[in-house]
Amino acid sequence: MEKFDVIIIGTGFASSFFLHGYLSRVGKQARILVLERGKDDSHQWQLKHKRKSSTPAKTINETPDKRWPYYIGLGGTSRAWVACTPRMMPNDLQLKSKYGIGVDWPVSYDELEQYYTEAEIMMAVSGPSDNYPFPRSQPYPQPPHNLNGPDKLLKQAYPDLYFQQPTARPRIATANRSACCATGVCTLCPADAKFTIQNEMAHLYQDARVNLMLETEALAVETEGGQATGVRYKQNGKEQVAKADLVVLGANAIFNPYLLQRSSLTHPLLGKRLHEQVSQYVKIDLDGVDNFQGSTMITGHGYMLYDGPHRSKHAACIIENFNVPFYTLRLERGKWRQRAYMKFIFEDLPSNNNYVAVSEKSPHLPKVVHPNHSAYAQRGLDTLPEVLPKILAPLPVEDVTFSSVNDTEGHIQGTTIMGNDPKTSIVDKNLIHHQVRNLMVLGSSVFPTCSPANPTLTLSALSLLAADRLFSS
Ligand SMILES: Cc1cc2nc3c(=O)[nH]c(=O)nc-3n(C[C@H](O)[C@H](O)[C@H](O)COP(=O)(O)OP(=O)(O)OC[C@H]3O[C@@H](n4cnc5c(N)ncnc54)[C@H](O)[C@@H]3O)c2cc1C
Ligand code: SF4
Repeated sequence: MEKFDVIIIGTGFASSFFLHGYLSRVGKQARILVLERGKDDSHQWQLKHKRKSSTPAKTINETPDKRWPYYIGLGGTSRAWVACTPRMMPNDLQLKSKYGIGVDWPVSYDELEQYYTEAEIMMAVSGPSDNYPFPRSQPYPQPPHNLNGPDKLLKQAYPDLYFQQPTARPRIATANRSACCATGVCTLCPADAKFTIQNEMAHLYQDARVNLMLETEALAVETEGGQATGVRYKQNGKEQVAKADLVVLGANAIFNPYLLQRSSLTHPLLGKRLHEQVSQYVKIDLDGVDNFQGSTMITGHGYMLYDGPHRSKHAACIIENFNVPFYTLRLERGKWRQRAYMKFIFEDLPSNNNYVAVSEKSPHLPKVVHPNHSAYAQRGLDTLPEVLPKILAPLPVEDVTFSSVNDTEGHIQGTTIMGNDPKTSIVDKNLIHHQVRNLMVLGSSVFPTCSPANPTLTLSALSLLAADRLFSS
C-alpha cells in the first residue's frame, strides 16, 4: 500500500494555509494526499446555480434555533465568507490573566504576529493606513477602503477607536481578482473580488507533490500504539485506508471533533465548548447625513466597546458599519440614504453545555447541541440600549430600531481547544494532538475563547504557525 508523508483532510482555509506552509518547506519528493468530501464547483457554476456547493452539508442540529452554516467542496466555506479580516486584540488571548475569566491561549499575540502579516499578504488584505487597533510590524498590503458619510463622523469623534474595516475584499485589483465594487452580495461575489481558496490558492492542489482526491469523505483516523497510521475514507461508496506518517485535520469545528470521536479518541472536553459571537443589528435614521458612499460592503469598524476592565463583567463588542442598505433604503422622499445599519458583535464565553458529538440515531452524522449563549455575552447585549446613545452621539440620530439577536455569525469555534495542559485541552500550542503526536488539528475548533473578531484570519495564521513549528521544533 502506498504511504504518504502527510494526509490532509479538507481544503478550506485551515488546510490550505497549512499546505502552503508545508509545501514551502519540503523537497520535490514529498508525497501529500488531500481528501476533500465535495467537488470543485467553479465560480461560474456557483453563479449559474445561485448555490455555493453541489454537495449538501449534513449535520443533525438538535437546537435548530441556532444555525451553524458551512459549505462542502474545494475551498470549503471560503466560497461563502464575507472576507472581514480583523486580527484579534492581544488581550483576547489572555482573558484569564487580564480579566479573570475564560482561559489564556497557549500562544501570545507577539508569537502570532508574523503569521498574521503573512496571511494578510496572501489574502491581499485592505486595511487602515494611519493607525491600527492592534500592534502591527508592517502596513497592510492594500490601501484602506473609502469610508461612508456616517463613518467619517465617527472617525472624527473616535480617531483611535474607529477604523476602516480590514478586509480581503480588495481595494485594488490583484493578479487573480478584480477590485471590490461595493455590490454588497459578498457571500457569492459576482465579480470574484473577495479572496477565496479557489481564486487564490487552487494552484496548491495542482502541485506535482499533491494528490487531491475530490468526492472523498474521511471517516476516521487510524491509530496504532498511540500513533496515527493513516485515514479511513469513502470514495464511490467504497471504504479504503490510506497510510501516512502525519495526519492533519482541517474539516472545521463540527467535523474535526466528530472525526476524532469516530476514531475512538476520547477526552472529557472533546467536542465541547462549541461557540461563536452573538450579534444584533441596529437601524439608525439620520437627519441630513447621506450614507452608502463607501467602496465595499462593510466600511467602518468600531472598537469603542471592545477592550477594557468591563470584560471582567460582560462581553467585549466590535461594531461593523454597513455600506449597503441590505434591508431597505429609507422610504421617505429626500431621505433615501439617510439611514445607517450597524452590527454589534459580542464575544461569548465557551461552555461545556454546547457541543458536537456523534449522533446516536445516525452515527454517520455529527449532532450539534447549543442551547444558549453565555450569561456573559447576554450581559454585554443588555448594555446596548444604555451605551448606544453615547456611541452614536457624533451622528444626527432621528430614530433607532434594534433587530432581534441574530441566529448565527457563521463562525464555528471551540470543540478541540488548544492549551498547555493535556487534561484541559485537546491540542498543544503547535496544534499537535496531546496524545497522538503525529496528528494535528487545525482551524477555529482550537480556539479556547471567542473574541469579538471574525475568526478566519486568526485560524489561517495559526495554520501557518503550525506548519512552521512542525519543521522548526
Ligand atoms: C455566510 C458566512 C460568512 C462568513 N464570513 C466571514 C467573515 O467575513 N470573516 C471571517 O473571519 N469568517 C467568516 N465566516 C467563517 C469562515 O467561513 C470560517 O471561519 C472558515 O471557512 C473556516 O475555515 P476551515 O478551513 O476551518 O473550515 P471550512 O472552510 O468549513 O473547510 C472545511 C473543509 O473540510 C471539508 N470536509 C469536511 N468534512 C470532511 C470529511 N469528512 N472528509 C473530507 N473533507 C471534509 C469541507 O468540504 C471543506 O473543504 C463566514 C462563514 C459563513 C457561513
Ligand atoms: S462588495 Fe461586491 S465586489 Fe466587493 S466582495 Fe462583496 S460582492 Fe464582491
